[in-house]
Amino acid sequence: MPLLLALISLTWQAGAAKIDVTPKEPIWLSGYANRTKPAEGTLQPIYVKAAAFRQNNETAVIVTSDLQGFDVDMIANIATRAEKQFQLPRKGLVLNYSHNHSSPVTGKVLHLYYDLNQQQTEAVTRYTNKLQDQIVQVIGEAIKDLAPAELTFEQGLAGIAVNRRRARPNGRALFGPVDHDVPVLAIRALGGKLRAILFGYSCHTTALSGYQINGDYAGYAQAALEKRYPGTTAHFVQGCGGDANPLPRIMNSDSAEAIELAEMYGKILARAVEAVLRAPMNAVTGPLKTNYTEIQVPFTKPPTKEVLEEKLKTTRGFQQKQTQYLLNKLTKEGKLEESHAYPIQTVRFGTNLNFIALTGESVVDYCLRFKKEYGVDTTWVAGYNNELLSYIPSLRVLREGGYEGTEDMGEYGLPAPYAEDIEDRIAKAVKALLEDR
Ligand SMILES: [Zn+2]
Repeated sequence: MPLLLALISLTWQAGAAKIDVTPKEPIWLSGYANRTKPAEGTLQPIYVKAAAFRQNNETAVIVTSDLQGFDVDMIANIATRAEKQFQLPRKGLVLNYSHNHSSPVTGKVLHLYYDLNQQQTEAVTRYTNKLQDQIVQVIGEAIKDLAPAELTFEQGLAGIAVNRRRARPNGRALFGPVDHDVPVLAIRALGGKLRAILFGYSCHTTALSGYQINGDYAGYAQAALEKRYPGTTAHFVQGCGGDANPLPRIMNSDSAEAIELAEMYGKILARAVEAVLRAPMNAVTGPLKTNYTEIQVPFTKPPTKEVLEEKLKTTRGFQQKQTQYLLNKLTKEGKLEESHAYPIQTVRFGTNLNFIALTGESVVDYCLRFKKEYGVDTTWVAGYNNELLSYIPSLRVLREGGYEGTEDMGEYGLPAPYAEDIEDRIAKAVKALLEDR
């Protein structure tokens, strides 16, 4: 191909859009099992945002959201409608959530956490239905906004995340790695005007834990950037924040002190993004290539009926509820799940950027591992996409035991910890997707 033609064919089209998804009625907030009443107001609006990328005939849309997560039905519904209405194939659609613990309960996400009455359940259903319409709408708006663009990418740094395994009782001796990288993808119009910013961080959005709707530190970071760069949209992508918290934090609170901390973490993150945007960034050329696969991640041996019946007698409260759920499932279906479907996606922006999207609450090792394997400066791992199925432990975390991926599985209605080869299975699938040219 002549050089000029090759350059023309690698021209980017990019677009961005955002939609306000703040609930209009009192609704239960997500992510903590100990809340006792619905939300009591809004501290900050919450949004779903979409960034669309097109080159030749390939399109990728990265949806980000100030939400706790999605369930499989929501994902299927949104993906099917996006494919039908915008001819966007499933492999071209990434659905990321910041895992915001001050956002409404959606669908069946963490359903065992909440004891909702009929009225509260109906509010969740109404919100979830409208939310899905809004997500499809914002995907369409980002595609409609496609226009010639220049893309640049670079990693910054911010020191907010602390590995929460270190903060546990008796956990101080654990090494507890963190990922402090702040990946930044800038979308500019031809000529340089900034149109949209995608940025990431690997840390739970748990600075706040009260009864007011807000976007937590990620919401404050996005708001700060949109204020700093008027006319742009700032899109937060959650990384591998499974085992990280913003620390210090004030538990069970949205007091003025807790809000001050959340806002400060947001400002620190926004500053880190600004520092990247002000410095020279690497041009992202192409070609664009999207890939999707679904693997199975097996569990260790599930408990027998006898074990569950015994546990039912010795547990109380939330623990007992989890046991009862598994027992009912076993009685109804004759067996418990032996493995779970696990989608993995890659969006390759040529050799300049590998965007890897994992499913569920991925722990930090996945970000660190894939950056090491595929290039520290050219790899961006988004941990929280698709179904919020559970924590996704690495082999290290599984062998350490503890909350993420071992003790907490019942909270997600899952029967047993993952088998030790989970990290290996995910890594193999990522490799296959990235090598598919
Ligand atoms: Zn979590």
